[in-house]
Amino acid sequence: MMVSERMRPYMENNSAIRAMFEEGKRLAAIYGRENVYDFSLGNPNVPVPEVNEAIREIIDEEDFNVLHGYMSNAGFEDVRETVAGSLNKRFGTAFSARNILMTVGAASGLNVIFKSILNPGDEVIVFAPYFVEYGGYVRNYDGRIVEISPNTETFMLDLEEFREKINGKTKAVIINNPNNPTGVVYPEEVIQALADIMREKEQEFGTSIVLVSDEPYRELAYGGVEVPFVTKYYHNTVVAYSYSKSLSVPGERIGYLVIPDEVEHSGELITAATIANRVLGCVNAPSLIQKVLKRCIERGISVDLETYEKNRNLIYSRLTEYGFTCAKPDGAFYLFVKSPTADEKEFCEAAKRHHVLFVPGSSFACPGYVRIAYCVSYEQIERSLPAFRALAEEYGLSR
Ligand code: PLP
Repeated sequence: MMVSERMRPYMENNSAIRAMFEEGKRLAAIYGRENVYDFSLGNPNVPVPEVNEAIREIIDEEDFNVLHGYMSNAGFEDVRETVAGSLNKRFGTAFSARNILMTVGAASGLNVIFKSILNPGDEVIVFAPYFVEYGGYVRNYDGRIVEISPNTETFMLDLEEFREKINGKTKAVIINNPNNPTGVVYPEEVIQALADIMREKEQEFGTSIVLVSDEPYRELAYGGVEVPFVTKYYHNTVVAYSYSKSLSVPGERIGYLVIPDEVEHSGELITAATIANRVLGCVNAPSLIQKVLKRCIERGISVDLETYEKNRNLIYSRLTEYGFTCAKPDGAFYLFVKSPTADEKEFCEAAKRHHVLFVPGSSFACPGYVRIAYCVSYEQIERSLPAFRALAEEYGLSR
């Protein structure tokens, strides 16, 4: 057989995502695109025109061979300096270019860090619900995912179970703040308590445990909610960031890793990660968009949050008014709603009959819930409301 055994489970899972995509297309062909309410994808819908302006300027101004050429595997030095400076200004850190490794999005940043730290059999702790791609990233390097059950009251971290499951084989812990799929933001006290346990366990087992903070939604926090910068709370923290959401450029594939000097043997880890970037075949992050983000940082450009916040307010208030239950999301662009039936896939099917598409919680290791991505037009949400109301009535939720 040509395709490896390792790839087969991914192909089965992929066909489910594909089926959802095909269903959206099928419904749109029959009923018209404006009558299909697709809330399944986390694809930003708010343009950042300054990105295009910067691209035009850079193409006109920069030397062709420098702009499009090979570079250091860590990325352009001036870009990394600008990123470090911006972090220092916002979070009171003291990073320099050497602490920043430009990556092909957060996805590749996570692969680079796991490639750099995992030995076969090492355990990586994740808190459900979580972005299931983590499973693939960890298995790529023969690591083992260990799940902590969801706290379905608040969707905060279940630190009791965490304390029980962290052990001598734990090499890393992943947190994602603001969170996909729940939209919750872990406050300072939660990060502090997590860090305390990790320090205590490092001592107890005589090991080093890396806290991987996956932060593609960092800027997407509403109403002045603070997203703690994790390197301040725990020494062995590595941050995986991405511009996919803050500049609305997920297709450009750009992000970075922060490996602070406080990390044990940081110099060695920085070297390993830089080489991992190369041997994984990324070589370096795409060059043009690196120069673009530098200009955007210098000009203080970030996505306009107002659109997402208005969407959140509308969909959250209406759905809860109709009787649906969900934790109020302070960040990202997702609503994680309790399914009115134990089998949330059945709820997804019922929603499809009203031309509403969203993703079952089992895709995030949290069955019984569904994820609604509200990175769509305000009008789409408005048009979809009668369908949500009808669903609530069907399940006897309406008061
Ligand atoms: N981590 C989380 C939680 C995500 O939701 C995503 C993408 O949606 C990623 C990582 C990957 O981000 P990127 O597109 O920057 O690779």
